[in-house]
Amino acid sequence: MRFLRSSIILFLIYIALKINLCVPSIPSLKTLPIAGHFDFKKVHFAAKDFGNRYSFLPLAVLHSESASDIATTVKHIWNMGSGSRLTVAARGHGHSLHGQAQARQGVVINMESLRSPRMKVHTGNFPYVDVSGGELWINILRETLKHGLAPKSWTDYLHLTVGGTLSNAGISGQAFRHGPQISNVHQLEVVTGKGEVVNCSEKQNSDLFYGVLGGLGQFGIITRARILLEPAPKMVKWIRVLYEDFSTFSRDQERLISVKSTYDYIEGFVIINRTGLLNNWRSFFNPKDPVQASQFKSDGRTLFCLELAKYFNPEKMDVVNQEVVSSLSQLNHIPSTLFQSEVPYIEFLDRVHISEIKLRSKGLWEVPHPWLNLLIPRSRIQSFSQQVFGNILTNTSNGPILIYPLNKSKWDNRTSAVLPEEDVFYLVAFLTSAVPSSKGSDGIEHILSQNRRILDSCDIGGFGAKQYLPHYSTKGEWRSHFDTQWEAFVQRKSTYDPLGILAPGQGIFQKAT
Ligand code: FAD
Repeated sequence: MRFLRSSIILFLIYIALKINLCVPSIPSLKTLPIAGHFDFKKVHFAAKDFGNRYSFLPLAVLHSESASDIATTVKHIWNMGSGSRLTVAARGHGHSLHGQAQARQGVVINMESLRSPRMKVHTGNFPYVDVSGGELWINILRETLKHGLAPKSWTDYLHLTVGGTLSNAGISGQAFRHGPQISNVHQLEVVTGKGEVVNCSEKQNSDLFYGVLGGLGQFGIITRARILLEPAPKMVKWIRVLYEDFSTFSRDQERLISVKSTYDYIEGFVIINRTGLLNNWRSFFNPKDPVQASQFKSDGRTLFCLELAKYFNPEKMDVVNQEVVSSLSQLNHIPSTLFQSEVPYIEFLDRVHISEIKLRSKGLWEVPHPWLNLLIPRSRIQSFSQQVFGNILTNTSNGPILIYPLNKSKWDNRTSAVLPEEDVFYLVAFLTSAVPSSKGSDGIEHILSQNRRILDSCDIGGFGAKQYLPHYSTKGEWRSHFDTQWEAFVQRKSTYDPLGILAPGQGIFQKAT
């Protein structure tokens, strides 16, 4: 009887300890001396992202006002040691796909509420802008344009935060020339997993600087960034031409990115069995000659569209026109398929947002997005395209497919970004939307199985592909993703976030308990 009683008591003590470990003390967060505030009730928004497939409810959301709020919170959790299971996820605009900005029963930091530093543009010979890590790129564009300046490198969609894109890379059609966004940052202020606020750059704390760039949020929370600027043009000449076969299309693309290009932006996309040929949801495009555009028939074929942009100011219009005419004459597209438009610079850069508004109004924005983004070495892109467009995606693509080459020389190999081995590689982005509850070819299961077939064909073909915005379920998969960079990545984790507090939603490391 005595034995039974002491066993019950021991069991109750064990449960009490367990509960204490699992349900961290809300009061302890409440007492922290911060300028912002914690919300323990309205936390559901932080369990959602653009992917619309993963949902992990946090314990609290920190609406931070300063880097010091973030440092105080992380330090508090760091001081709790491995006895606490609390983790911390910085949430930018929540546009990740697999819960990367979420923290199950942890603290989510709402980065957009960060008030400092106030955005400050520095003009002069080497202009730059200092911004908060939670700033949206669209706001940076609007502010820098007031000074006739703008960042050099973009993403296709600007309603994303600086911290969110710098944690990956930030790739768009300007990257062939300027590199991704992580190649266009001079300085960062970072809160590490120990709650320390550290300034870093190429010269100062450079290991942390390069680690954080492309580091999937693993080593620190970016609270400030210094971003390089260039003179902003007023207008953009926006051009699309079509190709019937992939090899001619990619040959032209590769030539365009290798020479001192006429163009400021080079992308491309695939059109599978579609009408409405020149538009896809991620951008509006109104060619000057809509009649000609509407007369072109794809007849169910797969076509490849090269998309180019040339920046200009109206006073230089004639020179620019001549340059463009001369460069287009060297391309091998289907002759009748040259479509052009001229739009203000801001309209061009913010083009996806216009489609977002349309899709939102039809309830088609907040649907599941089982996106797959791959980086494929140039030497394997023909085989990849034959496999994917010849065998796997023959009838429909359930969304835009981007495909364009990038120069590795514009990337800094000291960052955490993982790239294929060759000097030129392609970004291939399958930007699919699923129809909720559909069991057909537009349903989530079908699209996921197509994604798996694409990934399998990369493995079987030995294409040396790397995932961009990577998502894996096992340590082994992460290890093989990072490959030769894995040891350095683990080393940086143990230096800057040894307890594994930060960015749990990436699923790379588990918090030490
Ligand atoms: P979140 O989703 O909030 O966070 C992403 C990850 O970064 C999380 O792990 C989070 O913890 C971490 N994080 C967030 N803020 C910080 C911070 N301040 N410090 C440290 N870590 C942080 N990408 C491209 O490269 N090119 C494109 O053209 C492009 N187009 C896109 C278009 C759309 C419509 C969408 C939805 C996404 C697109 N992306 C593109 C992908 C996008 O860049 C990434 O998903 C990016 O992470 C989203 O930014 P966010 O602010 O929403 O980040």
